[in-house]
Amino acid sequence: MRLALLGHEGKVGRVLGPALEAEGYEVRGFGRGDPLEVAGFDAAVDFTTPAAATENVRRCLEQDLHCVLGTSGVDVESLAPLAEGRGRVLFYAPNFALGAVLMMRFAEQAAAYLPRAEIIELHHESKRDAPSGTAKATAARLVERAPIHSVRLPGLVAHQEVLLGGEGQLLTIRHDTFSREAFVPGVLLAVEKLGTLPPGLTVGLDALL
Ligand code: NAP
Repeated sequence: MRLALLGHEGKVGRVLGPALEAEGYEVRGFGRGDPLEVAGFDAAVDFTTPAAATENVRRCLEQDLHCVLGTSGVDVESLAPLAEGRGRVLFYAPNFALGAVLMMRFAEQAAAYLPRAEIIELHHESKRDAPSGTAKATAARLVERAPIHSVRLPGLVAHQEVLLGGEGQLLTIRHDTFSREAFVPGVLLAVEKLGTLPPGLTVGLDALL
């Protein structure tokens, strides 16, 4: 399977490229300014920037590639009709770390009993979008609207706490990503399952687990 890796020199891309190759995929990296001529590739994996990713995905779908999108802050719904029209899969996960998917699932279960929740998401200072895609996806799964607090500081990678308060008690569900290797198994799973998904948009690793 031939893969176009968009953002191969970024923090995530640098880890993903070798990991995809180790699984036997033929990978070609595309960086900022590289002409996106990808006809003949099977799929694209995009970890770039919110500003670049929409156009990247649009161009890849138009050249009949399936797309795995990791870049957050993209209006994926607006790209769904194009994916469907081209008979291609657009898979987006706000978080490719399996532990984070479990955190969201556990928070949803807990909120059925402790509906008053707030979310704190903490990321490295170069993360451009706030709140994070994971925090927004978590909030959407809770019973009541949960306020989101964003922290951007050096030293952090990607972390999130869901605080669920009740009379005389607090339940904290926390997930920490310490390195970009955390995203590799989720991306490999998404690439592997592309052929099993219906054309159009699928959101979240939950759909694959
Ligand atoms: P990063 O280190 O800033 O890397 C982004 C890379 O994309 C850079 O090398 C950048 O090049 C390149 N780029 C910019 N415009 C491009 C274009 N038009 N075509 C191809 N490449 C382009 O960021 P990162 O930490 O790797 O994260 C990338 C994105 O993934 C962010 O949006 C982040 O929030 C998201 N993310 C999602 C998950 C998830 O699980 N869903 C996990 C981690 C990160 P320049 O340096 O030249 O600009």
